[in-house]
Amino acid sequence: MILLDGKATSAAIKDEIALEVEQLKSNGLKVPHLAAILVGSDGASQTYVNAKVKACERVGFKSTLIELPADTSEDKLMQTIDKLNNDPEIDGFIVQLPLPKHINEDNVTLRVAPEKDVDGFHPENVGRMALGLPTFLPATPNGVMEMLGRYDIETSGKHCVVIGRSNIVGTPMSILMSRNSTPGNSTVTLTHSRTSNLKEVCLSADIIIVALGKPNFLTADMVKEGTVVVDVGIHRIEDSNKKSGFRLVGDVDYETVAPKCSAISPVPGGVGPMTIASLLQNTLKAVKQS
Ligand code: NAD
Repeated sequence: MILLDGKATSAAIKDEIALEVEQLKSNGLKVPHLAAILVGSDGASQTYVNAKVKACERVGFKSTLIELPADTSEDKLMQTIDKLNNDPEIDGFIVQLPLPKHINEDNVTLRVAPEKDVDGFHPENVGRMALGLPTFLPATPNGVMEMLGRYDIETSGKHCVVIGRSNIVGTPMSILMSRNSTPGNSTVTLTHSRTSNLKEVCLSADIIIVALGKPNFLTADMVKEGTVVVDVGIHRIEDSNKKSGFRLVGDVDYETVAPKCSAISPVPGGVGPMTIASLLQNTLKAVKQS
């Protein structure tokens, strides 16, 4: 069984990016600058944003973290986005999701300038992805593609089942896996909460990409021998044995599923670090484009 080690793979990608940053510097060119907006103080979001800022430092990018209180109005957030859109020093930025309930996430996504949308969420970038045109690919699905590519996982002609159809993970994942590319060229089944025969569909899969947001959902009886399983889910589960009071688990019941797999990504240390590496790759791309 191959462990799809996102931590090690993302470290390798960061080393490659750090080298490129050194080259930019020595050629007297601009060092990439990523900004992140965090609204409110949700613990998990804070952790993700901090990890992104730390990753910027590691590869030699500049980073700016803008922290706004939870009661920030949508108008105020829009003004902050406009500032970053118009700031030539900022190459790319993200607005950490989820946002407080009183802010419309679709309005926010639309407001980010497509050329600075390093999360790849703007409809223009999503459309370009669907057509196979150059764009910022959404960080998590692209991280999964990088992982499959770097581990030489055969995807061509395989049946890939994606569980979950969200705009930021499941749907783009299904598009990327079905594209005429390597990795890609899979026959994709996109499943969701209304899929009636999920177990049966999963049992016919060669590759299962799980992104539905339910801890330990994919169990051994849903997986045939030799399947490649990629676990996108991430959940904090209370654990009094841990200093932090919690541990992280994914959407896959790892202990029972892993023995049946030809390859599987763990949680933590799987897709999470790949998402961050992908964000850095997009930011570097933004600098090169400008
Ligand atoms: P979401 O809640 O937006 O979407 C969940 C999807 O799962 C929906 O499309 C729904 O139809 C589907 N679903 C729900 N119940 C189902 C069921 N019983 N059977 C089949 N499908 C079902 O979630 P999301 O934003 O795509 O995130 C999914 C998970 O991935 C979450 O745990 C999230 O924390 C995690 N995530 C991780 C990263 C990372 O970098 N590792 C990034 C984004 C999201």
